[in-house]
Amino acid sequence: MADIVLDKVSKRFPDGTMAVRDVDLEIADGEFVILVGPSGCGKSTTLNMIAGLEDISSGELRIAGERVNDRAPRDRDIAMVFQSYALYPNMTVRENMAFPLRLAKLDRETINSKVEEAAKVLELTPLLDRKPANLSGGQRQRVAMGRAIVRQPKAFLMDEPLSNLDAKLRVQMRTVVSRLQKQLGTTTVYVTHDQTEAMTLGDRVVIMRGGAVQQVGPPQELYDHPRNLFVAGFIGSPSMNFLPATVGDGRLRTALGDVPVGDRVRRQLEGGGDAPRELILGIRPEHFEDAALIDEETRRRGMEFEAPVEIVESMGSDKYVYLTVEGERATAAELEELAADAGAADFTGAGSNLVTRLSAESPVREGENRRVWFNLEKIHLFDPSTGHNLT
Ligand code: ATP
Repeated sequence: MADIVLDKVSKRFPDGTMAVRDVDLEIADGEFVILVGPSGCGKSTTLNMIAGLEDISSGELRIAGERVNDRAPRDRDIAMVFQSYALYPNMTVRENMAFPLRLAKLDRETINSKVEEAAKVLELTPLLDRKPANLSGGQRQRVAMGRAIVRQPKAFLMDEPLSNLDAKLRVQMRTVVSRLQKQLGTTTVYVTHDQTEAMTLGDRVVIMRGGAVQQVGPPQELYDHPRNLFVAGFIGSPSMNFLPATVGDGRLRTALGDVPVGDRVRRQLEGGGDAPRELILGIRPEHFEDAALIDEETRRRGMEFEAPVEIVESMGSDKYVYLTVEGERATAAELEELAADAGAADFTGAGSNLVTRLSAESPVREGENRRVWFNLEKIHLFDPSTGHNLT
């Protein structure tokens, strides 16, 4: 068993920076967990504490049930893969991969068979006698992974291993990493700032911000049920649209018209008194559709509005259509500030954009007024004073 448990783990650097705060996380044996968040959110520091490359300021780290806070990195039986491949240029692929095994003083025969086995898994067999200079970026990264897997460690820790690769190769390598992890079944913690990578790779995703965990869950759960504004804005591309909404008399007034709210949300809102309240309505671009393209049954699940079309971007499979609606389209960052200072909620302002993703068949044209539908079953409502999702 090689589960990894972080119990109220914090990191304060000597200059006083609180890089990680009270992180609680239980990673099951064999699980593939992704740490994701914007630059500086503390994901690398968290990974480095698991690896033993950074001291833990407070809290406890357990690997396979044992407290390892004070155990040296080499005694944790963990392999790291970094963004830079750090291969030895003078050694062949075979020698690079064999290196950790030679350090561990295994006999030549065992080393050879372990290297060849890893090479097979990573499809590196034909390249075993090449030097790193004669490999592509993706092949080098596979060698770096090979060097990690030959040791058969308790866990893999990966810090942005694909970020040096070009976009196409990154997508290919994603499937290599994913397949490898499934095949080996080794507990893996993987750091990235790329939400697409996070969504496509892991069993569970940990979203961090400002050193704290915002939400932990399977990718689909984070997408469907973001706990707060930050997670809602971070997951999904293009980002969720956020619009101001005023509650009163059981209705929700928005720039898209009056939006009906479900019973559960209504009860929650009524619990806070009868006075109208400011809320934030969140709708993902993919939950809009050209109103001319939907059938009657679908139509009943949502509502329609008409808005001027500013820009149409044809993506082949679908169209990104930017609409102008009244009221300001607040960004997630602005909304976060609002959440920090509830009194400052002021959404009135000049017209601006709503990003929608419509079917490729939509005949929408720039400059026209278009009727657009959105799915009421998919909307989110946030309390701007806390950022919490009320839906
Ligand atoms: P990135 O994606 O940019 O690598 P990250 O999420 O991995 O970011 P960390 O590298 O973990 O973030 O850093 C978290 C915070 O700790 C940042 O504010 C960073 O400036 C700070 N930090 C990192 N290392 C040190 C250090 N040695 N001393 C002081 N502060 C540090």
